[in-house]
Amino acid sequence: MILETRAAPPFFKNGFVVGCENTRQGILIDPGDEVGELLSAVDAHKLAIQFILLTHAHIDHITGVAAAKKALGAPVGLHRADNFLYKAVAEQGLMLGVRAEPQPDVDFFYDTPGPWRFGDYGTWVYHTPGHCPGGVCLAVGRENESGRTLFVGDTLFAGSIGRTDLPGGNLETLLRSIREVLFRFPDETVVYPGHGEPTTVGIERRTNPFLRSFAGDH
Ligand SMILES: [Zn+2]
Ligand SMILES: [Zn+2]
Repeated sequence: MILETRAAPPFFKNGFVVGCENTRQGILIDPGDEVGELLSAVDAHKLAIQFILLTHAHIDHITGVAAAKKALGAPVGLHRADNFLYKAVAEQGLMLGVRAEPQPDVDFFYDTPGPWRFGDYGTWVYHTPGHCPGGVCLAVGRENESGRTLFVGDTLFAGSIGRTDLPGGNLETLLRSIREVLFRFPDETVVYPGHGEPTTVGIERRTNPFLRSFAGDH
């Protein structure tokens, strides 16, 4: 699997290019202010991007959608419950003191779990609300193998969890999403959060201070 991560100021949110090494098809995840670097990585790997997939619609995860869609012509997917945030990107910017342009409407909602296919790989969508109403985990892997790589947005971080004080956030819902969705994946599953370094399900299950009390539940 081809995987490139980029992050740029002011938010240092991770944007991802994921590609199939055999077919050179790929996806873009959460294009934000680093979109130019993501597009360069797409070119460098000579990828044909099939989908632009969003983990959620907070401003830092979507400000590159317009540029990505213009350059790649790929359809944009989002969970339906976050469309109100997506439409309010300018207002989100005002709250943070940054200017943000409205983005083009999304092309489809995650009304089925997928998979959204690129080459030998698929992306399966798991609803993980709590950080926001339409937050999802994008689980990527080969269709004929069980291993998955998780792109979890701002639900879970290395050693931390997503904030729940923004509109539509809820701490109990977030903890339930992590415990009942993310922690059902095997310990060796690699997790790419929306900010910071990658981790694994097992490391977070054992050491995340916000979740250790749940470690014995499963
Ligand atoms: Zn967020
Ligand atoms: Zn974020």
